[in-house]
Amino acid sequence: MQEQYDVVILGTGPAGATAAAYLAKEGLSVLAVEKDDFPRFHIGESLTGSAGLVVRELGLEAAMAELDYPKKPGVTVIGHQAKNEFFVPVMEQTWQVRRSTFDALLRDRAIENGMELLSARALKVERDGDVVTGLRVAPAGGGAERMIGCRMFIDASGQAAFLSAQGVAGPRRGDAFNGQMAFFSHYEDVPRDPGPFANNTTLFYSELHHWAWMIPISSTVDSFGVVLPKETYKQVASSPEEALAWGIANINPEIAGRFSKAHRVEKVRAFREYSYRIDPFVGPNWACLGDAHRFLDPIFSYGVSFAMMEARQIALKMTACWNDADLEEPLRDFAKWSDTGQNIAHDLIKYFWKFPVFFGYQMQNVALRNEVIQLFGGACFHPEAMRVPALFREALGEESAQIVRPPASQQPMALSA
Ligand SMILES: Cc1cc2nc3c(=O)[nH]c(=O)nc-3n(C[C@H](O)[C@H](O)[C@H](O)COP(=O)(O)OP(=O)(O)OC[C@H]3O[C@@H](n4cnc5c(N)ncnc54)[C@H](O)[C@@H]3O)c2cc1C
Repeated sequence: MQEQYDVVILGTGPAGATAAAYLAKEGLSVLAVEKDDFPRFHIGESLTGSAGLVVRELGLEAAMAELDYPKKPGVTVIGHQAKNEFFVPVMEQTWQVRRSTFDALLRDRAIENGMELLSARALKVERDGDVVTGLRVAPAGGGAERMIGCRMFIDASGQAAFLSAQGVAGPRRGDAFNGQMAFFSHYEDVPRDPGPFANNTTLFYSELHHWAWMIPISSTVDSFGVVLPKETYKQVASSPEEALAWGIANINPEIAGRFSKAHRVEKVRAFREYSYRIDPFVGPNWACLGDAHRFLDPIFSYGVSFAMMEARQIALKMTACWNDADLEEPLRDFAKWSDTGQNIAHDLIKYFWKFPVFFGYQMQNVALRNEVIQLFGGACFHPEAMRVPALFREALGEESAQIVRPPASQQPMALSA
């Protein structure tokens, strides 16, 4: 192992491994630092069409078939009390995945492309002013702390949001969907939809911010999760297991029917305070990717896709300007691109919760339907020719994330009484 790399990447989830695979392929020296032993459990199992494109570009299509990942035809949304439903097809080939093996697959591809891997826990970034000069790590299995130097540092540490915690990136602020909790596990013996829709993601709607997902992650196993506001959780359950059982019985009559013979094959896990954003998330020679700077909400399965698309985008930007003295401007361009996509996704989710009936109605409207299908597929980063993002922005008004607001320091201060 060297003491100095072109790029040091923290974390080998989808964001870190994808960035490493692209950057190392272009001949940059890349070291990735990861604390966990792979394969390891991770939530985030349904991919959009945009992630499918990246998977194929990385040459992993054949490996996806060998790993028994179901091909995803689309998303079925089952409405309140199962009285109605709508279907959103996937336009680009994509998959449902078991994250333990999927993340290992991405990481192996990065290693094949030339990435070096260090099993270690990141402790601290070293800086010279605003420039990150390296990362101090504690190797797994003990041994002396090490300092690794780099020209560019990428934080792909997921919800740990390492650079924010270090005070390099901005503070972590709760985003629009932060008041919810998710409870989830894996099950066998859950009947699926008949015929070509068997491998759909199914979303079960109950009422505002109460919902559940079912995602087939192999030919026999389904991921199932329930999302509730914190207040509801306190009223209906006193443990994650109880919350999941409550969700099966109460979220939507379709679920109880499907789960009558199901048995659980994973432990029940819970997640809270997962909706947040961090600004700024790029600097002179550093950037945060994926969950390390923003996670909106799990409902439309954007997390892994956005992590992989951001990783691809930053790798393309960095390799194009690597020989220039200044990396900051391209990094700022990247941040603008990322904000555009994330804000549009925010509005899509917000609109769904605010106008659920109208959302279903728009899925019948031929003129808008195609755009909504594209946005569901992750095409939020290139909205130029679309009408729907502007319609959603207008309908949401002040609640739209697309409205550019002045930074907090320039906003008028409240007058004290
Ligand atoms: C309830 C729920 C359901 C979801 N469902 C979906 C879904 O269906 N589809 C979807 O696309 N997304 C989903 N997501 C989102 C998805 O889980 C994340 O967006 C995605 O995993 C982000 O990838 P990442 O690479 O940014 O981070 P991660 O996958 O979290 O990877 C970060 C890596 O960094 C490592 N790391 C962190 N700190 C350190 C350190 N100090 N030292 C060394 N290593 C470190 C970690 O070990 C980890 O391996 C869901 C999220 C939630 C909360």
